Amino acid sequence: MPFNAIIGHDQPKRFLQAAMQRDRLAHALLFHGDEGIGKRLVATVLAQAVNCEAVPPLDPPDACGVCRSCHQIEIGVHPDVTIITATSGKGETEETREIESRFIYRPLVGVRKIVILNNADLLRQEAANALLKTIEEPPPDSLIILVSGRPDSLLATIRSRCQEIRFAPLPLETVKTTLRERRSLSEADAQFLAVVSGGRLGFALEADAEALRAERAAFLQLVSRESLESIAGLFAICDAIGKSEQAEAAIGWLAAWFRDLARVKVGGDRDRLINMDRLEELDAQAARLPLERILELSTFVESMERGLDRNLNKVLLLEALLLRLRQFLQPKAA
Ligand SMILES: [Zn+2]
Repeated sequence: MPFNAIIGHDQPKRFLQAAMQRDRLAHALLFHGDEGIGKRLVATVLAQAVNCEAVPPLDPPDACGVCRSCHQIEIGVHPDVTIITATSGKGETEETREIESRFIYRPLVGVRKIVILNNADLLRQEAANALLKTIEEPPPDSLIILVSGRPDSLLATIRSRCQEIRFAPLPLETVKTTLRERRSLSEADAQFLAVVSGGRLGFALEADAEALRAERAAFLQLVSRESLESIAGLFAICDAIGKSEQAEAAIGWLAAWFRDLARVKVGGDRDRLINMDRLEELDAQAARLPLERILELSTFVESMERGLDRNLNKVLLLEALLLRLRQFLQPKAA
């Protein structure tokens, strides 16, 4: 797939093509941005463009998408291009060995030996050290592309040696138009997925609107009037969410709820509400809360979201948030 077939991300694409044209592509790149935004896709196309066998070579450098090399990379069998996806469960030694072994030999057939390392922030000690060694003394003709949704969790020594490329969310309209072109969705579903995705096209193309709505409905019960009535009841629900390891999802949906509340309260653009189909409840709750309270809750839940990758107790955070909401909604009961 050539670069111009990738929707959005014009800046990273232009930067990479210009670097290739001047033969100044760094040995280590860090692609960072939200999950499902398109980092992996651009990394794959870059690997194809670097090793493309089109004659004459494309100008500006690009992936023809049809030569043997482009095809092999696309189906994951190119001898010089390896894609490793770090997971928190995978054996550390295995990842270390993969990183070290991939760079021992010169490229077999391609121009450069390339490793794309997805979820680079999940590498643990030993593997991260192997990676650092590789990046500090890059073998000639090598290219390592780190892909991460949480670059702050990378070792500073690794990060500082990489050329960073940030991937920004796509505009809502672009996501919506692409969804309509590529998936047969109702207008309401296309709008819902575009807003929920927050500009992450890859996520929007894969997501199941029905399943997401069901998940949201389950978690939004937490902020319903009935749930907030009993503290014991709230604790029981939070506990159950914690046990089923769904606290992260719950926090995500609650963050969206409070962002929506703030938008409704200040009379913002309603097309951007994630909970557009719950307008009645949003309006009712917004009417009962002063703006500064809504902003306080919204800031609190957003700091919870940012703290998720640190080992904070998610259930306690969830309880603290809901108690605060309860207190704001029922000042006398608190
Ligand atoms: Zn090609």
